[in-house]
Amino acid sequence: LVRARDVHKSFGDLEVLKGISMDVHRGEVIVILGPSGSGKSTFLRCINNLETMHAGSIAVDGTYIGYEVKGGDLFRARSKTAARQRGQVGMVFQQFNLFPHMTVMENLVEAPVVVHGVPRQEAEERARRLLGIVGLADRETSYPSQLSGGQQQRVAIARALAIEPKLLLFDEPTSALDPELVGEVLATMQDLAERGHTMIVVTHEISFAKAAADRVYFMDDGVVVESGPPDQVLENPQQERTREFLRRFL
Ligand code: ATP
Ligand code: MG
Repeated sequence: LVRARDVHKSFGDLEVLKGISMDVHRGEVIVILGPSGSGKSTFLRCINNLETMHAGSIAVDGTYIGYEVKGGDLFRARSKTAARQRGQVGMVFQQFNLFPHMTVMENLVEAPVVVHGVPRQEAEERARRLLGIVGLADRETSYPSQLSGGQQQRVAIARALAIEPKLLLFDEPTSALDPELVGEVLATMQDLAERGHTMIVVTHEISFAKAAADRVYFMDDGVVVESGPPDQVLENPQQERTREFLRRFL
């Protein structure tokens, strides 16, 4: 579903991604680990076309992100194409980024109705189904400020799903939460994994990686240092940099 090849990205003189490659098959859950500043968020933002890469390519379901094909040649995507490509990918951020002046229901129907032209009634039915999945069926008229952090993040997950994306990206979805609220969000993510959603998750929750990931990627300084099944990368890492990083979590 996702094929990233030799992705490079710089901010000015700072090369943040130095050739990242990744393959994600439909239904797989990938966990990306790595120290602060290693480029994890930047890589996710490239997949979602929130950043433009300088070299390399990312294809999602055969579509080159950030580009369009004309007469066999690749051109930078126009904004309309870029928006459509972004609609294939749902993203959940560390800060939930809900619209504070909108109810839960309004948050969930906004993008499907306004951006994707889904009829409102259909969008509302979809939203109710998704709120059931994230365990918030009774909160559709609440405002974000009336919800706990864990509940807000579960609304944000439902909102990401509301556009029926092919791929879900999570950027440290539990790091802004009080410790006692982390579990409910991870449980929701695990449930989505079991429902067959394709997910790329940046997280430091090693327990989630062990329980849910098909493969783990360890990034450091803009490169993938090591990748493989969780029991290999987490229990028996081959690289010293991975071992050193993981020691912090023991
Ligand atoms: P963290 O674990 O702290 O979230 P990360 O692995 O997600 O880190 P990135 O946010 O991808 O790291 O940042 C990688 C590097 O790129 C950092 O050195 C950061 O300062 C730099 N960087 C990120 N975004 C920008 C930007 N918009 N302009 C300039 N530099 C940036
Ligand atoms: Mg980050």
